[in-house]
Amino acid sequence: MSRFLLIFDSMTADEHTFSYWEQTAFTDNADVIIIGSGIVGLSAALRLKKQQPNLKVTMLERGFLPSGASTKNAGFACFGTISEQIEYLKRSSEADVLRLVDYKWRGLQRLRENLGDANIDFHQNGGYELFMDNEADRATEALDHLTYFNNLLKQAIGSADIYAVANAKIADFGFKGVSHMMYNPFEGQLHTGKMMRTLLNRIYEKDVLVLNGCCVNAINQENGGVVLETSHGHFKTSEVILATNAFAAQLYPELDVVPGRGQVLVTKPVPGLKLKGTYHFNEGYYYFRNIAGRVLFGGGRNIDFKKEETWDFGHTEEVKAQLVKFLEEMILPGQPYEIDYWWSGIMGFGEDISPIIKEVQPHVFCAVRCNGMGVAMGSLVGEEVANLALS
Ligand SMILES: Cc1cc2nc3c(=O)[nH]c(=O)nc-3n(C[C@H](O)[C@H](O)[C@H](O)COP(=O)(O)OP(=O)(O)OC[C@H]3O[C@@H](n4cnc5c(N)ncnc54)[C@H](O)[C@@H]3O)c2cc1C
Repeated sequence: MSRFLLIFDSMTADEHTFSYWEQTAFTDNADVIIIGSGIVGLSAALRLKKQQPNLKVTMLERGFLPSGASTKNAGFACFGTISEQIEYLKRSSEADVLRLVDYKWRGLQRLRENLGDANIDFHQNGGYELFMDNEADRATEALDHLTYFNNLLKQAIGSADIYAVANAKIADFGFKGVSHMMYNPFEGQLHTGKMMRTLLNRIYEKDVLVLNGCCVNAINQENGGVVLETSHGHFKTSEVILATNAFAAQLYPELDVVPGRGQVLVTKPVPGLKLKGTYHFNEGYYYFRNIAGRVLFGGGRNIDFKKEETWDFGHTEEVKAQLVKFLEEMILPGQPYEIDYWWSGIMGFGEDISPIIKEVQPHVFCAVRCNGMGVAMGSLVGEEVANLALS
């Protein structure tokens, strides 16, 4: 063991001395360096290269794979349940609600345009919101707002047939303890892993270099450019895009981005599974869907917001127990199933529900805080920050 450590140490000491070949082909002279290879960073790279094909773009990603939310999420291509719209309307204006839905809807269209539905297993199977037996008030509130939101969101979606009552389907799905259900035919689902692989392929085709296992520890201004201190030495560049989402405050503590962990499970294939689509309940704090005959189920951050406000991946017994209880009693009552495995991902939240896209210091532009909606809005967030950096 100690011999292994010695060898490893001597390698680490030397690995920052890049060869002439490494410097000229890999580490030097990037016009733009993007920190973080999640959906936002990758979408920014794609935009930069579309606008200026000769630009040298390098991405620095500290994970072996992208290691935040983009490869860990639920793959819902959604723009919000009625309850989410109601909650947002309570703390903002009608125009803001419409703007956010419009942004997510256009973001999803852009994602599909950029990557192609077949490549990402996109299916518009529709989305459902469930109300439990003890949520009669919430269900009534949603019903009262149904026509209002259909008329308002028509301006974004292009149809007023968005939200509809779907109580008759509760029994078909086999749910227990659910008294009301709403359906939205415009919502879809995709394969998150394929989405990220396709995005990576798109930027490889455009000669963007992605260096994994490289953590940026500090960002300094030097001679009109920027120098990044990383776990693999210094990188100089002209412009930087910070796409580290939940982790943004580790480099810029003044940014209002707090982490929020999401815990997820996936079952083994369930014989005769009836679910098809995306499902939300409890104001969107719980979500589940079908994937390859399995149930993917996540949420429960609201059980203890403070505990889930963490940069650490992992699980808590409280959240796991609650997810298992809902799965067993409500989603798959009386059906045999087995949980295959669990994972977690880290989202970036803030007081304001819109992302932060701005210059944080000369030549450094950030695009962070997707508030748990980055599959929907990430393509546009990346595009916007790329435009800002180019301008
Ligand atoms: C469990 C879960 C379920 C979700 N479900 C959905 C959903 O169904 N629909 C939806 O729209 N959204 C969903 N989201 C949210 C969505 O996944 C995120 O909003 C989106 O992925 C954010 O993308 P991003 O590129 O901004 O950040 P990330 O994907 O987090 O990427 C940031 C990257 O920066 C890297 N990084 C951080 N610090 C450094 C550093 N110092 N140096 C180098 N690299 C660094 C990280 O390793 C990471 O790869 C979910 C999220 C989670 C966790």
